[in-house]
Amino acid sequence: MIKTGLFGGTFNPVHFGHLRSAYEVQAKFSLDSVCFIPAAIPPHKQPSSVADAKDRLEMIRMAVSDHPGFSVSDVELKRSGPSYTIDTVRHFMALRTEPTLLYLIVGFDAFLEINTWKSFKELFRLVPFIVMTRPGLSCRDSGDKLKALDDFLNAEISGGYSYSSQDSCYIHETNHPVYVFEVSRLDISSTKIRELTGKGESACFLTPEKVEFFIKSRGLYR
Ligand code: ATP
Repeated sequence: MIKTGLFGGTFNPVHFGHLRSAYEVQAKFSLDSVCFIPAAIPPHKQPSSVADAKDRLEMIRMAVSDHPGFSVSDVELKRSGPSYTIDTVRHFMALRTEPTLLYLIVGFDAFLEINTWKSFKELFRLVPFIVMTRPGLSCRDSGDKLKALDDFLNAEISGGYSYSSQDSCYIHETNHPVYVFEVSRLDISSTKIRELTGKGESACFLTPEKVEFFIKSRGLYR
C-alpha cells in the first residue's frame, strides 16, 4: 500500500515551519511522499497580500527540490475558481492506479476552521487526517488541545468521535481516523516573513536560502 500525504496551503511563502512539520509527519506515518499543494485563490485570505500563484509554486519547487520524498502539485492552480480541498482529494483519488492511502495533513489552526470548508463532512468520510500542532494557540498543553479537538469533532463534524490512546487518534464508526501529531514547535509563519520583508528586514533562517533570494529578487511582499 502506497501512502501519500496531501499538504495544502497558501504557502505565501513556504517556510521551515511547513517543511520541518511535513518531514516529521512523513517519518512518523511512514509516508512514501508528501505532496505540497498551493491554493489558487485562497477562499479565506486577503488576495491583495497573496503573491502570484506561479511565484508561490516556484518557491515550493525550490524548497522541496533537495528532498526526494516531497513533491509539488499545481492541480489547484490549473483549476478555475477558488481552490477547494474536496475537489483536490477527489482528483488524487481518481488518479490512483494502485492501492494508495491518502492522508490530509493540516495544521491545528487551519483544522479548527475546517467547518468553513466546502463539503467538509464529506472529507472525513474520504480520508484520514493528520493534524499537526502549532505554537501560538490558546490551548496551553497537549491535554487541552486534545479536549478542544474532541469537543470540536463531536460538535462540528459528527457525534461519536472518541479518542483511542492505543492508536493516538480519534476514531469514528464511519469516518476515517483523525490523528493528532505533535511536531517541533517552530513559531514561523508566512505572515512573519511577509512582515519582515515589508520592513526591509531579512527572513534568513525562516525559509530556505533559495526562497529568500527569490523573494528579494522578485521584490515580493514589499
Ligand atoms: P499565514 O501566516 O499567511 O497565515 P501560514 O504560515 O499559516 O500562513 P499556510 O500556507 O497558511 O501558512 O499553512 C499551510 C498549512 O501549514 C496550514 O495547515 C498551517 O496550519 C500549517 N502550518 C503553517 N506553519 C506551520 C508551523 N510553523 N508549524 C506547523 N504547521 C504549520
